[in-house]
Amino acid sequence: MSAERTPVQEKHRQSAGAPAEMDHCPLMPTYGPPPVMFTRGEGAYLFDRQDKRYLDFLSGLAVTSLGHAHPAVAEAIAEQATRLLHVSNLYATEHNWVVAGEIDKLIGDGTPVGGQVFFCNSGAESNEAAIKLARRFGGHGRHVVVAAFDSFHGRTLATLAATGQPAKWETFQPLPEGFRHAIWNDLADLERQLDDTTAAVLLEPVQGEGGVNPATIEYFQGVRRLCDERGMLMMVDEVQTGFARTGRWFGFQHFDLLPDVVTMAKALGNGMPIGACWAKREVAAAFQPGDHATTYGGQPMATSAARAVLETMQAIDAPFLARSAGAEIMRSVATLPQVNDVRGLGLLLAVELDGIDARVAAAKCLDAGLVVNGVTATALRLAPPLIITPEHVAEAVAILGGVLDELSA
Ligand SMILES: *Cc1c(COP(=O)(O)O)cnc(C)c1O
Repeated sequence: MSAERTPVQEKHRQSAGAPAEMDHCPLMPTYGPPPVMFTRGEGAYLFDRQDKRYLDFLSGLAVTSLGHAHPAVAEAIAEQATRLLHVSNLYATEHNWVVAGEIDKLIGDGTPVGGQVFFCNSGAESNEAAIKLARRFGGHGRHVVVAAFDSFHGRTLATLAATGQPAKWETFQPLPEGFRHAIWNDLADLERQLDDTTAAVLLEPVQGEGGVNPATIEYFQGVRRLCDERGMLMMVDEVQTGFARTGRWFGFQHFDLLPDVVTMAKALGNGMPIGACWAKREVAAAFQPGDHATTYGGQPMATSAARAVLETMQAIDAPFLARSAGAEIMRSVATLPQVNDVRGLGLLLAVELDGIDARVAAAKCLDAGLVVNGVTATALRLAPPLIITPEHVAEAVAILGGVLDELSA
């Protein structure tokens, strides 16, 4: 079947590199037309089809925290690919129990907690596991999960229902029931949403997609206290914040407390798809064999990558790198005249622009060789790899400063 291409479809086809004789783009239009095709990466840099170089200050949305083509991760994947890709979770494999143990130790900031891990393939799946665990733990009649407005927890039906952005719900109604939302960083409003049907509270330590808004220490500590008082689970979504991104191994560690359940994904595989749901052992014990499962979760290919990621991150003290580079970016970006404010933690930052459309600024930065994205209409998100040097920061600030000068001229 041949159809006329719309201009958007034509742009999509061209930027995807599809041949001109193709009468339609073979990809579903869930994303806008991609502005560039990247063909390789090296450390903090990406290269397109013409070998133009870009400084990557987005890391594939906080995924490639060790940079592109990291030798230790590449070697682990290549070596595993020649030995064993998959056998199913009916059998043991070499890496998943090691990675689970390392995650448990990092949750305890260096001291094992004794919790347990369920592996899956994405952030949404890690939250699905947490939601099912909360329902299993709560028991019949106690299944409600309270999340925050402006949160983001994924795009499956249940994680979309958990996501506190009503505009994203409408076209997909009816969504699974059992979710309620409270105003972000407002403990009194959260308390009003709790009753004896509530199994758990699910929160990000820094709302990433919602605009890079960190929780306050009073809020998180208050949530921990409410959950303790009422026997509810405190579940923290660390999919974007986990693995040193915020300057601690996990974002909740800024608040001096231990959640009951922690979900993670993005940076764990440095680009290899892998997610995980960690829970305290007495909580994990609510799951019985057969309650939850996945074909691919925890398979050797993904866990070999994760093992190399966690070894490397500990060897280079990734949280320290995120703290120092984050402070450096905050200092120098704040000197740009078109910048109102820089917020965030570690290397998860939002740059609030003065009267400049963030999406326009992000597109201009891309043209100028800097990858960032507009996280709100007025703010750019910076989530560079944790391995960036002061030279990378200077280069990024020079490009950004030039773009902002041009746009405000
Ligand atoms: C990205 C993200 C998710 C969803 O992860 P996917 O791998 O895209 O399913 C969930 N929660 C948070 C906080 C995220 O940033």
